[in-house]
Amino acid sequence: MAKYNQKHCSFCGRPESHVGFMISGNDGVYICNDCAVEAGKIVQKAAVPVKSKFDMDKKELPRPKEIKEFLDQYVIGQDAAKRYLSVAVYNHYKRLMQKETADEVEIEKSNIIMVGSTGTGKTLLAKTIARLLKVPFTIVDATVLTEAGYVGEDIESLLTRLLQVANYNVEAAERGIVFIDEIDKIARKGDNPSLTRDVSGEGVQQGLLKLLEGSVVNVPPQGGRKHPEQALIAVNTKDILFICGGAFDGIEKKIAQRLNTQVVGYTANIEKKRLDRNNMMQYIAPQDLKSFGLIPEIIGRLPILTYLQPLDRTALRNILTEPKNSIIKQYIKIFAMDGVDLKFDDEVLEYIVDKAIEFKLGARGLRSIAEDIMIEAMFEIPSSNTKTLHITLDYAKARIEPLKEAVA
Ligand code: ADP
Repeated sequence: MAKYNQKHCSFCGRPESHVGFMISGNDGVYICNDCAVEAGKIVQKAAVPVKSKFDMDKKELPRPKEIKEFLDQYVIGQDAAKRYLSVAVYNHYKRLMQKETADEVEIEKSNIIMVGSTGTGKTLLAKTIARLLKVPFTIVDATVLTEAGYVGEDIESLLTRLLQVANYNVEAAERGIVFIDEIDKIARKGDNPSLTRDVSGEGVQQGLLKLLEGSVVNVPPQGGRKHPEQALIAVNTKDILFICGGAFDGIEKKIAQRLNTQVVGYTANIEKKRLDRNNMMQYIAPQDLKSFGLIPEIIGRLPILTYLQPLDRTALRNILTEPKNSIIKQYIKIFAMDGVDLKFDDEVLEYIVDKAIEFKLGARGLRSIAEDIMIEAMFEIPSSNTKTLHITLDYAKARIEPLKEAVA
């Protein structure tokens, strides 16, 4: 009798006692949890695709020159890296669209590695390019990675952020771009494969290799360690473009060593004359990465090698004022929001550059020096009636010199 009093799923007919739970509709209609899931799947499949920001329309895709022009608005100099990046991103799009053309030529993935001292704009380039990308993009840091089983994060967690950016849409994530920062930090310590454990070096590189060459990996959706209770998401990395960046401190010496030994021979004089000793990075070659401690298999999977120039005086000066959201433009905007007209004397800008060079802080130092100059005004002016603020060299010096004396 009880059987007939039970609710039954209107789809599969099973009674309530045979299913997880029942959802009720109007007039004694029910659906069990299993049928609800199945119905959900059918709806998802049949749904008219909504145009997402990751949909690519061939005509809308920016050409390499347009991508570079966009980068030029935010990043000073670094022409070589900009060109390589623009082409790589454009080719990545083409690669993703190649299924439309039915022939046997398969465009292969070309992951990139960018080498350049810290503060020369590697991350800035990556962040800027992300603004116009039509695929999911994320920046991750290689320093947190360790070999599986050790304290730190598993390699697969590099893809967690990408999944998050793609709203856990695996298909979209599988077409994405991942920027791996500080790749030099997983270099092998020392040139010899050592007897001591190198859990954040070669072991990680072996793991990374799997991602770079394209395979199905199980990604923890929340990142971190693979907890047994976390259902892993399978992601195929075949079509994911990897861009790696690193400072590779001291690699100039390895480049110089290689060039010096090379030029001992017959081409010695000509080659030596042409070498620009102040910017050895421009001569970087894959074998220098190997001397630095990257394993050859990784280098092979990063076929595009490009470099960033050290920033000279002119570049630093331009960084202050030229980019679309330059530091100085930002201060002017901050003050304008309080109705204050802010002006800087040119000498002040030169002074900021001098100090950044003197403190050996590069572009990163520009902001902190400017901040030291502006902090008092930013504190006082909003509560005053001041309508114009003129930053002179004396004013700037008066803010910076006492700080310097305190340090000395
Ligand atoms: P990296 O990743 O090479 O260590 P970043 O890209 O993080 O360096 O640069 C640090 C900061 O310095 C950036 O936020 C930016 O303000 C400034 N900067 C560095 N290089 C450039 C550049 N070429 N053009 C404009 N700004 C730059």
